[in-house]
Amino acid sequence: MPRRPDNLAWRYWRTVAGAAAAAVVVTTGALTGHIRFAHANDVVDCAQVKCVALTFDDGPTPYTDRLLDILTANNAQATFFEIGNKVAANPAGAKRVVDAGMEIGNHTWEHPNMTTLPPSDVPDQLSKANAAIAAATGVTPRLWRPPGGLTDAGVDEQAAKIGLAGILWDVIPYDWINDSDTAASRYLLMTQIKPSSVVLLHDTYSSTVDLVYQFIPVLKANNYHLVTVSQLLGQRAPGSVYGSRENGPPADDLHDIPVAKIPSLPNTPSPKPMPNFPITDVAGQNSGGSSNGN
Ligand SMILES: [Zn+2]
Repeated sequence: MPRRPDNLAWRYWRTVAGAAAAAVVVTTGALTGHIRFAHANDVVDCAQVKCVALTFDDGPTPYTDRLLDILTANNAQATFFEIGNKVAANPAGAKRVVDAGMEIGNHTWEHPNMTTLPPSDVPDQLSKANAAIAAATGVTPRLWRPPGGLTDAGVDEQAAKIGLAGILWDVIPYDWINDSDTAASRYLLMTQIKPSSVVLLHDTYSSTVDLVYQFIPVLKANNYHLVTVSQLLGQRAPGSVYGSRENGPPADDLHDIPVAKIPSLPNTPSPKPMPNFPITDVAGQNSGGSSNGN
């Protein structure tokens, strides 16, 4: 067997040829549908590198597509907990989330407080949302987020029956309260995020999309990978609940970047928040409070 010339030139051309072959595989796969996504995060090991899971609740909304563009441009993935009745009203919007390589989860059919709902109404809130998301996207969620982070043993038992694991968070920047003051939300992101954080955000706010656009460079400068909840946590047991409802003590893990490195925003005011649909068929319930929060 002839010896390969083990010199720099050979190694260079071997690398070029390998990269070209890999590009052909990815391109062909993309064209034929064999490889849907080529995200670097698909091979990220969050036990070895710093990861953060950004989560966006209450969509799909008119701001979701701009957020998807920003995430995609940064090779970032995230998890979207969507409300069933909004998905049913805008199935194409939900499909674009999945087609962009994001994880989709269940945020109930119409965003009630699941712990004060008549227990007989709990299964429908979960299963109707799952059905709407599956019909729109082809994906049946395995994760759900209780509205307001409010759940209890009886609700968790119903979630378990349809294969859903509950996901709360450990970083809550109150973006729905801070809509007009994103600096306050940014401060909480700066001080609270640490490796393996799950962050609660809402794509019902154009200002939240602005915040994410300007904060991703900070996360990248701190060597964080932006991943989905399932990439971060692995498979979760149905009926289990991860995380909590409050921030912990400041982690102060992030260092800031120079202002010049923060991308600027168009000088236009944010549109008003995209509200949730009101709940009219369950007595005493609303769809997340006056500010349509978490
Ligand atoms: Zn919500």
